[in-house]
Amino acid sequence: MRQRIVVLGSTGSIGKQTLDVAASLGLTVRAITGNRNVDLLEQQARQFLPALVAVADEAAVVQLANRLKDTGIRVLGGPDGLVEAASMPEVDTVVTAVVGMVGLRPTLAAIEAGRRIALANKETLVCAGELVMKAAKRHGAEIIPVDSEHSAIFQSLLGQGKQSEVKRLLLTASGGPFFGATRETLQTVTKAQALQHPNWSMGAKITVDSATMMNKGLELIEAMHLFQVPPEKISIVVHRESIVHSMVEYADGSVIAQLGVPDMRLPIQYALTYPARLPSPVQQLNFADGLSMTFTKPDFDTFGCLRLACEAAGQEGTACAVLNAANEVAVACFLNEACSFLDVEKIVQKTMEEIPSQPADTLEAILKADDLARKTACRIAAEESCRT
Ligand code: NAD
Ligand code: MG
Repeated sequence: MRQRIVVLGSTGSIGKQTLDVAASLGLTVRAITGNRNVDLLEQQARQFLPALVAVADEAAVVQLANRLKDTGIRVLGGPDGLVEAASMPEVDTVVTAVVGMVGLRPTLAAIEAGRRIALANKETLVCAGELVMKAAKRHGAEIIPVDSEHSAIFQSLLGQGKQSEVKRLLLTASGGPFFGATRETLQTVTKAQALQHPNWSMGAKITVDSATMMNKGLELIEAMHLFQVPPEKISIVVHRESIVHSMVEYADGSVIAQLGVPDMRLPIQYALTYPARLPSPVQQLNFADGLSMTFTKPDFDTFGCLRLACEAAGQEGTACAVLNAANEVAVACFLNEACSFLDVEKIVQKTMEEIPSQPADTLEAILKADDLARKTACRIAAEESCRT
């Protein structure tokens, strides 16, 4: 039987690459979703002929439905459309490639439907990791990471012994565009500079997260939940070349790693074909040409967002949900040029100081913390922008 997939966030960087992989493997695409890019959704719908297209922006629904009238494809709008796409029948894998915690409800819906989750949407695990992992266990839903570091760790853990034999996870970080910068130079960073990542071409939010290094903090929290490892057993290693995608160190001192060129089609394809490995168009590493690799430690003093995320990772309850929500608001402000680069860290820090962590055992508690953190971060962002 051909594999049948749903792609949540098909118009984004991961979504488009997922559809490239789906086309090259000949997979059936049952549903796609986007926020408001009607042109691209129409084009993707005509190419892949899914049963359902969901678009989050209510204003875009009528337009898209009109454009697809001749195809018989169902078009849905609003947040419920995303949930419906996530849980539709006759699907094997749901690729969660939306950005932000808006992916939480659809991810839970796909889990409840027992689907395999190819998880790119890290914010979902950051804000509700325990809840999501417990639901996956209860419903027998496999979660296969798409994030390159987590895919590498997943692969480095395969076929090994007991959890107790894992000494630590080594999470590699490119260091982003401002590796080696000082606090002083970070003060004048522009949006255009922050959007220039040295190794990866990605959506705007994750590119800014990579520049502040919040991305690596979010990934540490993501790894804690995916691999059930406490934060003190995860070390971040800066590796500028992004060839070693992450590693696992075992009790005997052996380190197992996964290597490859920095191309997201590799972890995307693996999440779709696991446990099989199929040929792919991705370039090969060429060791004989003198591949050089460097490793060093991260700078927690210059990159305050990384420090804040590591602090949240060590706290119980809603702290990570608050961190994530404040960061989503702060990055949106930075992308709208409504605050400076270093204000992102300031907004996250002040929001975290104002909102104490609460127990995070229900979806309601997490949504409440997320909502409060967003409002608080918006207020702080407005105060900060008045000051400058
Ligand atoms: P992107 O901005 O390129 O795409 C995001 C997608 O989400 C788009 O399809 C957009 O239409 C949709 N979307 C945005 N807001 C929405 C809303 N309110 N409701 C419904 N849909 C909405 O982002 P991306 O770079 O593809 O990243 C997607 C996720 O994958 C993120 O969580 C990111 O951290 C993670 N990730 C990305 C990469 C990468 O290389 N791009 C690597 C690892 C992990
Ligand atoms: Mg990553």
